[in-house]
Amino acid sequence: MSDIASNPSPTDSSAPSAELIRSLTGDLPCVQCGYNLRGVSVLSPCPECGTSVRATILARVDPYASVLRPIRRPSLLASGLLAWSGCALAAALSVWSLRAIDAASFMLDRPIVAARPIALLVPIFAALSGLGAVVLVRPHAGIPRWQSALALLGVAAYAPLVWTLWRLHAQIDLANPMPFFKPLGMPYERSLARLAVAGLLLAIVVGLRANARLLASRSLLMRSGRVDRQTMLAMAAAVLLASAGDGLHLLADAWEGAAFWARTLGLFLIAVGSMLLTVGLVGMVVDTWRVREAILRPPLSRREAIGP
Ligand SMILES: [Zn+2]
Repeated sequence: MSDIASNPSPTDSSAPSAELIRSLTGDLPCVQCGYNLRGVSVLSPCPECGTSVRATILARVDPYASVLRPIRRPSLLASGLLAWSGCALAAALSVWSLRAIDAASFMLDRPIVAARPIALLVPIFAALSGLGAVVLVRPHAGIPRWQSALALLGVAAYAPLVWTLWRLHAQIDLANPMPFFKPLGMPYERSLARLAVAGLLLAIVVGLRANARLLASRSLLMRSGRVDRQTMLAMAAAVLLASAGDGLHLLADAWEGAAFWARTLGLFLIAVGSMLLTVGLVGMVVDTWRVREAILRPPLSRREAIGP
């Protein structure tokens, strides 16, 4: 009990002087220059670069650090997250390269052979992304069982996704190349495959989102709302937009008079939806990088930096 009397809590308004003379008892690298501020008073500037110690505390000390669940294998979790987002972006960029190759062969008026290996990269990167997503099933203890089950379903949706992407890019498109340069519109089978891909992407977002947001909340920066961008919901909206375009392509054959306009509008929606999805994937890579920092270099609790 006497311990409490001689060591008032920092929130105790009757003891401001104890707070003023307090110096850092834990290792705390300066936010500006990295100098270890251990032993420096909370009120002083950094002895090396003059940045106020309070600025470093604001940036590095997380009041929630002591309640965050410990992560047993941080480097495995961090690499899995990066593989998940990075390979998803790589798959999307492979699809864009295929479309660029289409445009080039249309202008040169001859087929470009590079399309075949790149078409295989799409399902390969998607499979690697799904492999990375496995870490989202149960990143740490204390996650509700339904939430892990949902994440497992999200990961399972990768299997049909990889197969459909292989069918779409390595079979349908190679048999009938340059799908966006055909005057008679999209092959029926291609639009159906794209709608299947969209449905599976939505299942993946629904499955993985809860655990992904749980991990994002470990980052002080992301939890404080400064960079919370709801990236996954935005990507789901982009997928739906592109699907509306695929739906128009499917309907175009039935609308004799309006077929041209349905195809043109469909093409436009697919292009905008795909661009927004790619932007969302870039955002996801940035977000997982931030979460990776928070996992590998966890924020300090107030107690660790300033002492009890
Ligand atoms: Zn400094």
